Amino acid sequence: MNYYSLNKKAPDTSFANAVIKGLAPDRGLYFPKKIKPLPASFFKNIDQFSYSEIAFEAIKQFVSSDIPESKLKTIIEDTLSFDFPVVKLNDHISTLELFHGPTMAFKDVGARFMARCLGYFNRDNNNDVTVLVATSGDTGGAVANGFLGVKGVNVVILYPSGKVSDIQEKQLTTLGQNITALEVDGVFDDCQDMVKKAFLDESITSNMQLTSANSINVARWLPQMFYFLFAYKQLHHHHDDIVFSIPSGNFGNICAGMMAQQLGLPVKHFVAANNANNVVTEYLKTQDYKPKSSVQTISNAMDVGNPSNFIRIQEIYGNDFNTLKTYLSSYSFSDEETKQALKEIYDLYNYIADPHGAVGYLGCKSYLKTHKNAHCVFLETAHPTKFLNVVEHVIQTKVALPPQIRAVMDKEKVATKISNYEDLKAFLLKS
Ligand SMILES: *Cc1c(COP(=O)(O)O)cnc(C)c1O
Repeated sequence: MNYYSLNKKAPDTSFANAVIKGLAPDRGLYFPKKIKPLPASFFKNIDQFSYSEIAFEAIKQFVSSDIPESKLKTIIEDTLSFDFPVVKLNDHISTLELFHGPTMAFKDVGARFMARCLGYFNRDNNNDVTVLVATSGDTGGAVANGFLGVKGVNVVILYPSGKVSDIQEKQLTTLGQNITALEVDGVFDDCQDMVKKAFLDESITSNMQLTSANSINVARWLPQMFYFLFAYKQLHHHHDDIVFSIPSGNFGNICAGMMAQQLGLPVKHFVAANNANNVVTEYLKTQDYKPKSSVQTISNAMDVGNPSNFIRIQEIYGNDFNTLKTYLSSYSFSDEETKQALKEIYDLYNYIADPHGAVGYLGCKSYLKTHKNAHCVFLETAHPTKFLNVVEHVIQTKVALPPQIRAVMDKEKVATKISNYEDLKAFLLKS
């Protein structure tokens, strides 16, 4: 029983149950009861470990015996079948490319890991699970791809009609099998509200086991620790003052970096790079946490007005504002600044970033103003072609489509249109 609910009104539970349930019965996020640091020798000798070995060492205590070690190793190897290169822009700034997976967004790793864990928990096929997820773009594709063909798991994805890019829509509507796309006549918040309502609707939950596949789920959140360890492996010989700048929306990715730090990763500081959705930037200035409705930006995967993982970050730092401030800085940038950054990165370094990465780059630049000796790594969370219109317009250059993207462009979209909660409920109950 190694997880507790951050609302503190639900019993402790196992990794398996935390993954299957998503949220605790008191609606709290699950958090590990203990975090045992890895030995210092692990970080000193990190060169000797492969990526899969690093990932295994990092996550095994959080998975516990719920998955046997040999099976967990296989799951990790399957999950990490692509690269995570660090690209140096100058002596003080590098980028960690997290877009080499099948849907070219960093969410691939968490989605693939979670899918394989659920597949294992469901190996006897007597616990069918329905993964219900709302997407503003990238989550849908990563989840659809990660869960495709997993036995005993059905995936239902809600996305706002006309509000996701063509590529993103293709990625989540063309796979078939156990993946269903519901095209919602509404905006992302409508999709999210319907999903939340379904989780609370006993006429649905008494009929099927629903779970979520966003970063509130520990199996989607925790594997993101790997990125920070992989970057450290690539950089530690060259820099001893490494800082990460993470383009943040729901703050799952950055919170996973902080978990890696709890494991002993020698990284002193994190920068949360935000677009105009700046609840956390404001909180660090005022100590007043004020969730707001989200505003639309060109880095749309970060358009979040009330980041769900922030509560985990506070827990990591003992719910103490001053401790938090020692480890976290946050800056917010407008779309205009983001576009200028895209252009600057292209002009100065001949590197094509996506709008989210560009916000991360700006986070590095702001931090470096007062920390001249640091080496700042910004996370490149999506491939620039996923935001083709903005990127090509700003840099005035055509960007070649990678094979993963070309492969879905010609496939036929299949989606069921729904317009309200009753439609969703009817759909779930008949399937
Ligand atoms: C989801 C996403 C983010 C935000 O990550 P969080 O873990 O929600 O903070 C940033 N960039 C891209 C491209 C994303 O898809």
